[in-house]
Amino acid sequence: MALEAMRKVYKIMNKTASTFIAKSTIKSADIDHRRKINFNIGKYNAVVPAGKTQFENLMAAREQAKNIKWRALEKLDIMLEQFEKNISARGAKVIWAETAEEALNEIHKICKAKNCKTLVKSKSMVTEEIHLNKFLAKQGIESIETDLGEYIQQLDNEAPYHIVTPAMHKSKEDVAKLFAEKLGTPENLSPQQLTLVAREKLRKKYVEAEIGVTGANFLIAGSGSISITENEGNGRLSSAFPKTHIVVAGIEKIIPSLNDLSLFLPLLATFGTGQKLTVYNTIISGPKQKNETDGPEEMYVILLDNGRTNLLANSKTREALYCIRCGACLNACPVYKNIGGHSYDTTYSGPIGSIITPHLKNLKEYKHLSYASSLCGNCTEVCPVRINLHELLLENRYESVVDGGASVSERVAWKLWKTASLNRSIMNMANGNLKNKVVNSLFKGWTKHRADLNFSEKTFNETWKEQRGRSKKYDVRIIKFK
Ligand code: SF4
Repeated sequence: MALEAMRKVYKIMNKTASTFIAKSTIKSADIDHRRKINFNIGKYNAVVPAGKTQFENLMAAREQAKNIKWRALEKLDIMLEQFEKNISARGAKVIWAETAEEALNEIHKICKAKNCKTLVKSKSMVTEEIHLNKFLAKQGIESIETDLGEYIQQLDNEAPYHIVTPAMHKSKEDVAKLFAEKLGTPENLSPQQLTLVAREKLRKKYVEAEIGVTGANFLIAGSGSISITENEGNGRLSSAFPKTHIVVAGIEKIIPSLNDLSLFLPLLATFGTGQKLTVYNTIISGPKQKNETDGPEEMYVILLDNGRTNLLANSKTREALYCIRCGACLNACPVYKNIGGHSYDTTYSGPIGSIITPHLKNLKEYKHLSYASSLCGNCTEVCPVRINLHELLLENRYESVVDGGASVSERVAWKLWKTASLNRSIMNMANGNLKNKVVNSLFKGWTKHRADLNFSEKTFNETWKEQRGRSKKYDVRIIKFK
């Protein structure tokens, strides 16, 4: 039985990894894809340096942000309870969900109670993580994405391609064609005209919807508030128009106090899009109060774990929870830029996705993501909260090997490598040509996408002797010179 279960796990694991490799192989050869991504990331690269100039001491700001997140995560239980106490005092209801299923069931209960037929939703990766739209569709509830990028992706029946820019892989011509196909608009509309079409369709939905769903960029413990950051105003409309507002947020979004926003909002804006500040920054501390005219009558905040406590329990990977989802590490990653967001087949892609997904889901099944890195360290370099991303990728690799995630052939290959490397006489038995043949046939996967491993023709001992000979002569000459 145990053997059969193990076989099943390996089958799923191999399928996930081989799908990733197959998709990546196709995408990395797609020149049109590369052109669009380079164009869009190029625009991002052009504005980010200007945004960074708003910080007098950028490194100090990043270090401070890291320290704040460190402090918040070290006291996560206390912070979350403080958040719950403070926001509940203003009439919001906090729901704790350990899994995606629990969160979906709670949302379903609320939808049923409100007889919800239409729901408007602002951009939120955590609702992608729990596959909320699919779930609501099964319940016969129309869920409309109101962020323009997300709306485009929803029309195309595709998941977001990037955590900040969901339709980054589409050109303006692609979007015009999509709108023509799905909405019957003329094929040659400009981006401004396309935006107006989306705006007209979406405005009606805000009024119709019984429920609005948003994520939260930050949960503020001290004041019991959520902070939402966006550029289109759709987050405000989604949270304020419908009578019921549901917030779904990962537990790691906590920060201690409102004052911390003065650091996190500019950091998020600059590293996310190159702006000094995102256009709309909203702080919500509960539903509409007695003396207020606007806002929802009811507000629910779902605090989601869904594997985050696995990261929290691990003192090495815990710092991955500091992430503020700015997307900078994706834009900086040579692997992401070549294989694109969809090849990962996970909610969170790029370096941060490769680190957290194996812990949120299953280390054995997703360990391959940690190898999808050149370890160049560019991700670590650009992260606003200074997460040691490339080191965490190495940590994942280490943990997956310790966890027994390496295949038998891989383990045998490394065992042979180690035995030979530690034994000088074995290393001296063969010349470079023979070593090349043996090693390149032993590590078959290695040479599939890389050049052969090439050993020097001479052994280390031979080279050492030669060098020693030369340096001895050199020593003699120096002595003579003296
Ligand atoms: S890991 Fe850092 S760079 Fe990457 S999305 Fe998170 S905050 Fe941004």
